[in-house]
Amino acid sequence: MSTLRENRLSRYNKPMTTLIDGKAISSQIKAEVALEVQALAKQGITPGLTVVIVGEDPASQTYVSSKEKSSKALGMNSNVIRFPADASEDEVLYCIDELNKDNTVHGILVQLPLPKQINENKVIIAIDPKKDVDGFHPMNVGYLVSGNAEAFVPCTPAGVMVLLEREKVTIEGKHVVIVGRSHMVGKPLISLFLQKNATVTVCHSRTQNLTSVTQLADILVVAIGKDRFIKAEHVKEGAVVIDVGINRVDGKLYGDVDFDAVAPLASKITPVPGGVGPMTIALLLKNTIKAAKLANGI
Ligand code: NDP
Repeated sequence: MSTLRENRLSRYNKPMTTLIDGKAISSQIKAEVALEVQALAKQGITPGLTVVIVGEDPASQTYVSSKEKSSKALGMNSNVIRFPADASEDEVLYCIDELNKDNTVHGILVQLPLPKQINENKVIIAIDPKKDVDGFHPMNVGYLVSGNAEAFVPCTPAGVMVLLEREKVTIEGKHVVIVGRSHMVGKPLISLFLQKNATVTVCHSRTQNLTSVTQLADILVVAIGKDRFIKAEHVKEGAVVIDVGINRVDGKLYGDVDFDAVAPLASKITPVPGGVGPMTIALLLKNTIKAAKLANGI
């Protein structure tokens, strides 16, 4: 939590807005994962995560490096398999097949997006659902929708739920409005909030009168990829606001929510950076532990 933001928030002469500190909460999760790694080590198990990346996209390279660094730091067996941008679909599928058969690999993550010549769906379906720590395989999507605990939940929406849980935000009976309906974020959140007995509304680019819908939200989650799009007029006073967006503008990161305009209204809000972002890797590590346990019948 930055001092600047704290100072800014303390100026508002209304019930204080609480910043949801994703950095601190993700550190808690990582500490819990480290304990699980130690417990598994006593049983001769080292959780293994392999990330597959195709091409040189700088943002993807950064994400992959930080996944590798974090998993290694916690004592996991961490590997990255790098393919050149012109790798064929067959090469990648062969690699996934080998990883599926490798007992030391518990989690497989293919960094998306993939180059045009490779069909993402084919690659996702090729991953053993029990090793699908990104939770994108149709079997895990189905498990999530049907409420089966075996589901691997995609890391970012899972991270959103953990933030709310650790912040003790009541979800049951609340009206949750999700802006964005991607497979990666918006859609998994629908199931996760329904499981917690929220009333859920989903908005997207064709939603009419977006403001009138978002104003109804007790909990507003925004994942649209539009720099500071959500303004004060979109938000009901006292709402909990979760900003998933990451937009790089002139070298700085901004969310999909105009933080300065919205924070005075919100009861709790995630900053960008330092909100949802750090949770994604923490939940990936948690999913890898889950996969290692599953593989070993624990
Ligand atoms: P997508 O581009 O896959 O989906 C964007 C969604 O937003 C779509 O459903 C789209 O609607 C909707 N949308 C776009 N414009 C509007 C609008 N004006 N009004 C209402 N809805 C709109 O994005 P992602 O879900 O992958 O990512 C969203 C944001 O979250 C990005 O900034 C991304 O960088 C960030 N992100 C952050 C992560 C993290 O770790 N914190 C992880 C993943 C993503 P439609 O379906 O109609 O096109």
